Amino acid sequence: MDTVLMLTHADAEGALPRAALEALTAARALAGGGALHAAVFGKGAAKAARALAGTGVARLLVADSDDLADARYATDAAAATALAKASAAPVVVVPGTSRMLRVVAGVAERLGGGADTHVTGVETDGGPAAVRWYYRQRIEARLRRKERPWVLAIDPGAFTAATADGAALPEAEAVAVTLPEGGGRTRVEGFRSPTSGEQTIRPDAQLLFVAGAGWTKKQADGKPHPEKAEELVLGFMRAAGASLGSSKSLVDQAGEGQKVFRFMTHLNQVGQTGATPRHAKGLATCCHGEEPHVVGWRFVRERRAVNLDASCGWARGKADVVYVADAFAVMEKVNALLKG
Ligand SMILES: Cc1cc2nc3c(=O)[nH]c(=O)nc-3n(C[C@H](O)[C@H](O)[C@H](O)COP(=O)(O)OP(=O)(O)OC[C@H]3O[C@@H](n4cnc5c(N)ncnc54)[C@H](O)[C@@H]3O)c2cc1C
Repeated sequence: MDTVLMLTHADAEGALPRAALEALTAARALAGGGALHAAVFGKGAAKAARALAGTGVARLLVADSDDLADARYATDAAAATALAKASAAPVVVVPGTSRMLRVVAGVAERLGGGADTHVTGVETDGGPAAVRWYYRQRIEARLRRKERPWVLAIDPGAFTAATADGAALPEAEAVAVTLPEGGGRTRVEGFRSPTSGEQTIRPDAQLLFVAGAGWTKKQADGKPHPEKAEELVLGFMRAAGASLGSSKSLVDQAGEGQKVFRFMTHLNQVGQTGATPRHAKGLATCCHGEEPHVVGWRFVRERRAVNLDASCGWARGKADVVYVADAFAVMEKVNALLKG
């Protein structure tokens, strides 16, 4: 059995990202009877690491510094490399967060090992193996590599998060990181959102709310009501903390400069040529439920849809429940209930 290291950053609030606890489950499965190490870097990393108490971690390494507060290639790569070297584990598991994915290849190169991303499963028969999909979830592959350390980035949502029972943690070992002077060439000045500043993609949300092109189409009175649609969709997103998905038709309209939702980009698109998110529940509104869209829902376990058309795609076995109703009226009512 190999020693396996789960290596993560702390999040902006100085806590462990949920994806790190999911990566820990994968690391534990890979370790089998071998030792499980954990390493955390970032501002407040030592405090964040306390969430690992009672998860079976045998060795805990920490790089805690204000200089590691911001996601920045030079400092993150230096910290992650130093921690992996200190652990010397031949297999390193990291959460597939955007911060970690940015440095994972460089870290593996600095360690003289190899990296694989988008891992959705692990196996141990005959040595460690990683499972991932190719060609937009059409081919599932099992990979083994000779390079060590082998760094595996786990897709968020693919594993159950490890639960901590609060038992004692091994004392954290502080690992010294040689950071490039002044943080390197990149200076973090702040964050700017690509759209209106509305954060609509939330991988950790329980619910995926999908808006389809119907929201911008002519309604019963013969007119489109994009402003009302925007108010209802945003109102629901804010009240429910859901993640916003879209059909291709809706985001393509945005690309053509029509009056559509300001907060919608191609990053919201779900489907064959979009994303395949992993939320527990999904609600599709004003979306027809055509196969190229629904294929992106394959990991969403409980599906519901609101559509005026009783013979839409969702009604043909693609959703658990279809409400044949006007989504404008339904969401108005739902938002009022949420407010109450
Ligand atoms: C190669 C290829 C790849 C593709 N990839 C993707 C992909 O990744 N993702 C994707 O989404 N699509 C993809 N598509 C396009 C896909 O086939 C559909 O065209 C698209 O999903 C349709 O979007 P829609 O359901 O929002 O719009 P529409 O088909 O226009 O449906 C709008 C729906 O809104 C309903 N509606 C209107 N008003 C209301 C109301 N007031 N209340 C309730 N319901 C209402 C209507 O009844 C209708 O069903 C792809 C197509 C191809 C050929």
